Amino acid sequence: MATMLDPQRTIRELQELRTLTADADGAQRVAFTPTWLAARAWFRERLAGLPVNVHQDAAGNVWTTLPGASERAVVVGSHIDSVPNGGWLDGCLGLLAGLEVLRRVCAEHEGKPPVTIRVVDWADEEGARFGKSLFGSAACSGNLDLDEARRLTDKQGVALPAALRHVGIDFERVKESGCERANAAAYLELHIEQGPVLLDLDLPLGAVLGTFGVERHAITFHGQAAHSGSTPMNRRRDAFLAAAKMAQEIYAIAARSGGGVCTIGSCTTKPGIVTSVVEECRITLDQRHLDTAALARMHREAREAATRFAAEGGVDVSWERLWSIAPAPFHPELIAFADDAVRETCGTSHRLPSGPLHDAAEMAMAGVPTVMLFVQSLKGISHNKIEDTRLEHLDLAVRALDRLAEKTMRWVADGEGSH
Ligand SMILES: [Zn+2]
Repeated sequence: MATMLDPQRTIRELQELRTLTADADGAQRVAFTPTWLAARAWFRERLAGLPVNVHQDAAGNVWTTLPGASERAVVVGSHIDSVPNGGWLDGCLGLLAGLEVLRRVCAEHEGKPPVTIRVVDWADEEGARFGKSLFGSAACSGNLDLDEARRLTDKQGVALPAALRHVGIDFERVKESGCERANAAAYLELHIEQGPVLLDLDLPLGAVLGTFGVERHAITFHGQAAHSGSTPMNRRRDAFLAAAKMAQEIYAIAARSGGGVCTIGSCTTKPGIVTSVVEECRITLDQRHLDTAALARMHREAREAATRFAAEGGVDVSWERLWSIAPAPFHPELIAFADDAVRETCGTSHRLPSGPLHDAAEMAMAGVPTVMLFVQSLKGISHNKIEDTRLEHLDLAVRALDRLAEKTMRWVADGEGSH
């Protein structure tokens, strides 16, 4: 029964975790560090007295399982790791709310629910140390590129496989984590929004439609260096001018795309001196959209614009793909459940896409029916010690996740979800 759920306990536990793992600059639960291990040990202590099995899989993800009458499982997941100087809610809210749901289900069904409930703490969601996010969930989904990951090093030059060995994980076997998906019928994740959409709508909670696909490229314009005093304006081949036109154009491309976003995040010029026309200008372009075709169109339009601006300025242009990932749309029925759960909890719901990637995207791409809930972020800020959410919204978020889990359990018990 709903009265067994204690969202205030979740808030107290979040505060306790903050006291344990944050300093004056914010949360320090960076994956594979002593503080992260301490946070995980603290989480395990919370499980004492519950009739659950706990084990770490081949990729370092920790699974807490409450076996039900059916082996088919509703998985609730998130991550206890943080970025350096991170916030007190990113990741751990979803994990501790999942624990509270587990407690409620356990109490209501006297330790034996109709379907299995699993809470997973994904390893190294943030990728703060090696620059590769979603490590544990990508290993589990099978999408992890081992050759790429094998070459990753941290700032001290420590390779990822060596860092993993230090915490007892064999890099060459991390994809064996995929066996954990065998009975996963559905995957749920509660997360702070990390953006301002719900804040601007003055709504506590929203149902997430999926995570954006990403096209990330470097664009380099090649012109000619020339003296800034002696070269008339009509004789210049100015690489920066073409790049600068892109800065404005991406706003028009995003506006036409129906919900996409584009960012030029860096710009470097050569020779980069005050007395020379720019010979070479390299910008990075990050484009995101929930719809595959719309993302492809945004990318095509950017290419066409770059070619046009290059021709106008008498410069050349070249492209380099840095990274890309397909959109991960969530499951329509689970989105409807999430919408209902939010509406039942706080009166109004809102459906929104996720700009940031989450472990949920890996589960969705692996074919597990997936949905997320977002709770409002104050100031729309995350990955910063000022990250915060109203306590009453945290309370509502735990309640909404619990309702969503209950609906999903019934759905799985009725034979729905992945088999
Ligand atoms: Zn997170």
